[in-house]
Amino acid sequence: MTHPFLDLAPLGADRFASIEDRVARLLATEQDVVIMQGEALLPLEGAIRGAAGPGTTALNVITGPYGQTFGNWLRDCGATVYDLSVPYHTAVTADQVKEAFAEHPEIDFVSLVHAEAATGNTNPVAEIGEVVRERGALFHLDAVASVGAEPVLPDAWGVDLCVIGAQKAMGGPAGVSAVSVSERAWARMAANPRAPRRSYLSLLDWKERWIDGGRTALLHAPAQLEMLALEACLERIEAVGPDEVMARHRRAAAATRAGASALGGGLEPYVHEASEAAPVATTLRAPAGVAASDLVARALETDPALPLAAGGGPLAKEMIRVNHYGADATREAVEASLTALATALTDHGTDVDVEAARHAVAGTWRR
Ligand SMILES: *Cc1c(COP(=O)(O)O)cnc(C)c1O
Repeated sequence: MTHPFLDLAPLGADRFASIEDRVARLLATEQDVVIMQGEALLPLEGAIRGAAGPGTTALNVITGPYGQTFGNWLRDCGATVYDLSVPYHTAVTADQVKEAFAEHPEIDFVSLVHAEAATGNTNPVAEIGEVVRERGALFHLDAVASVGAEPVLPDAWGVDLCVIGAQKAMGGPAGVSAVSVSERAWARMAANPRAPRRSYLSLLDWKERWIDGGRTALLHAPAQLEMLALEACLERIEAVGPDEVMARHRRAAAATRAGASALGGGLEPYVHEASEAAPVATTLRAPAGVAASDLVARALETDPALPLAAGGGPLAKEMIRVNHYGADATREAVEASLTALATALTDHGTDVDVEAARHAVAGTWRR
């Protein structure tokens, strides 16, 4: 008996290349796109270890937990690293990046996370890209949490290494990911003696053995199920239209903010300015005296499938995450999440106004 997941026809080089081309179209990029057979941390680590070495001076922007990880990799590569940290309730500004260059003109590599699903903020990449381009530094961007939820335009923004994953707003698989690589980034890697070679982390291997060979022979067996899932999710985005997919995420974020404020009980948007709040996920500050993790646990008792989580690590006390991305970028998911939080707050003895929250969600969704 044939099995729909198991007995598949081989996935050849031409199909693999066509999926890469679809990713390139989504990103409106002429750069090379390399699909890597692992969760997005694979191309993120591959890009940083490929492009950075002992001669590198890096500006590492930290607006959430991923920025910390990238700083650790950069230091491990032998780079001199200047961290630019901003509080998680806000975004970094192009002026702050400009000031960092003024202080350390030798910076030749900038690492930035576009949107942070873990902290709920999003950074002005276009404006920052202008500053980075002016200074001629290489620009590395983690767009895993932004792609599908808001525009990601590596060519227009001067991004040299743009990493995406499909598991957030694209509503796709987590086991394959992609990176677009500029000519400048390839040159930097080729000149880096410490760049991974003959390694699973190596982007250069894909350049030399896949791209330069005309994409006719894969380096190893493709992650077939994940590739098919990535293709299906790209097809779905194309069919609905990327603008519509992004609009759904924008609406979900706006409705969550408005609904939480209307609910009352001390629940507030964690990111102060709506313009700095990520469309992919909305973070809320728990009322004083209530642990966010307790509220989330109670809310999930009403429905374990709700896209709710507490913040990671030390944020678990104060931060509630509403992960309204992918299939959960709907009015229903937002309403149900706020209703469950209302139940949890009521249990805790806090007065809330569920009707006002529903009203705010409906009004925001229509706009
Ligand atoms: C989700 C995400 C990733 C991928 O990491 P996972 O936790 O494994 O999903 C990378 N970067 C950012 C900014 C993310 O939000």
